[in-house]
Amino acid sequence: MDKILDNIGQRKGGDAGIGSTGLGALEDAARHDLQRLNYPTANWVVPATAPDGKPACDVLIVGGGMCGQTAAFALRRDGVCNIRIIDRNPPGREGPWGTFARMETLRSPKQLTGPDLGVATLTYRAWYEAHHGIDGWEALHKAPRLDWLDYLLWVRRIAALPIENDTAMTSLDADGAFLRVSLRGPRGPEVVFARKVVLALGRDGSGAPRWPTFASFDPAGAAVRGRVFHSSDDIDFAVLAGRRVGVLGAGASAFDNAGSALEAGAGAVVMFARRRFLPQVNKSKGASFPGFQRGFAALDDDRRWRFMTYIFDEQAPPPHESVLRCDRHEGFAIRFSEPWTDLAVDGDGVMVTTPAGRHRFDAVIIATGFDVDLTERLELASLRDQIMLWADRRAPAESAAELEAARFPYLGDGFQLCPRSEGATPRLADIHVFNWGCTMSHGPLAGDIPGLGVGATRLAHAIVRDLFVADADCHFEALVAHEEPELAPTRYFVPREQRAVE
Ligand SMILES: Cc1cc2nc3c(=O)[nH]c(=O)nc-3n(C[C@H](O)[C@H](O)[C@H](O)COP(=O)(O)OP(=O)(O)OC[C@H]3O[C@@H](n4cnc5c(N)ncnc54)[C@H](O)[C@@H]3O)c2cc1C
Repeated sequence: MDKILDNIGQRKGGDAGIGSTGLGALEDAARHDLQRLNYPTANWVVPATAPDGKPACDVLIVGGGMCGQTAAFALRRDGVCNIRIIDRNPPGREGPWGTFARMETLRSPKQLTGPDLGVATLTYRAWYEAHHGIDGWEALHKAPRLDWLDYLLWVRRIAALPIENDTAMTSLDADGAFLRVSLRGPRGPEVVFARKVVLALGRDGSGAPRWPTFASFDPAGAAVRGRVFHSSDDIDFAVLAGRRVGVLGAGASAFDNAGSALEAGAGAVVMFARRRFLPQVNKSKGASFPGFQRGFAALDDDRRWRFMTYIFDEQAPPPHESVLRCDRHEGFAIRFSEPWTDLAVDGDGVMVTTPAGRHRFDAVIIATGFDVDLTERLELASLRDQIMLWADRRAPAESAAELEAARFPYLGDGFQLCPRSEGATPRLADIHVFNWGCTMSHGPLAGDIPGLGVGATRLAHAIVRDLFVADADCHFEALVAHEEPELAPTRYFVPREQRAVE
């Protein structure tokens, strides 16, 4: 540690460039910290044999983004080591950071913790200071987006969390005492039997990108290609140079995409908002403190419904940095109180209709976020009708007034799915939803960075508890057989065979 402080000290007030010495020293210190914490804890889970006669996987984590890797870190810290982490994307392209996130800096304040699980040398701040010194940290406004990706990959490497990339889960079913998971990876199809499955599938992990419906618009139509994009699409902004671009929505991603188009030389970018003005206050920030993160899940349904639907209904403002980024360009305009009522694509462009008139564009970007709707997750097709939703817990009128909130899965205390009826498979309790879909039940503990540390720890504790309880009789037998002769080096030692009660 002294080595790092010396190193950072040398940089203070001086060289602010990236240097491998600072990071190398931090890596040594972080590895040493993990050793001091006995990480990874030795595996204690009783091996299980799968129906195919092979060893079963104790925990399969689907999704190797920020939440998946942090869940794996928390499990290994608690001695659950027979785990696999898969991600359908190639290495470094897990999650939004290096793919469709288009903001210059993270939306959250720079003092973020979470992926570090409380190990100070694994924090973003430690990583940043190792690169840029303490002065650099003090001068930093917010974390650059690609820095955050590099940082996550660094934590992954130091905590030794191997991800099997290019490997997708295609289906998930119950099979006796196990979950049968079909994967498709570089070696072809594979079936894995797992005792627990963690669905760390991301912001759209309990749903899909949200597409509004318009009478004249077919998202699957051939003309749409290159003309209509969702903000989470892979967009080649260079082709928008000199073009007129319409953007639907006025949230953070709408501004980030508008900014990217303007910087790529778009001639005009017009943003359309349903509201009269932008949301002004980010209520999620007001709910980002330890009491909320630890206490929310313990509230009764009425209170959880009231808190979360309030936060959803208020909506979050875009970060002011993203707004200023767009406002720097003359070609940028926002049309308030103008929802789209129709969208038609033809060979030459796109026609947008609003209550105020018609607007012609070369291309449009739909920035309406992600929906929560388990029917959109094809992987869960065989189970989804058995899964309890918040709609099953609320009066029909309440659900009708808050359609999206009502579609969230209703989760138990360890993020596990709950059965909708008595006939449902008991294996639902072995499927843990560690993505945005947990938010109605637990708050944003697997959706936004600030809640991640609390969420991953809670998830790991629940899985550890379940695995121990399921094998409690085996653990008792192991305890009886446990033989570690404490007094062997002393003259009071009595061998086991001589210890029978007289
Ligand atoms: C554009 C954008 C910007 C954001 N900015 C911030 C921010 O500034 N601050 C903040 O606190 N939060 C932010 N968030 C919210 C949140 O922090 C991120 O969404 C974060 O990536 C969540 O981590 P995750 O692991 O849940 O999801 P992801 O990082 O998206 O990882 C999920 C992974 O699951 C994989 N996957 C999905 N389905 C399958 C399957 N069937 N088989 C195998 N793999 C699969 C995907 O390939 C993906 O890599 C942002 C979100 C978005 C979308």
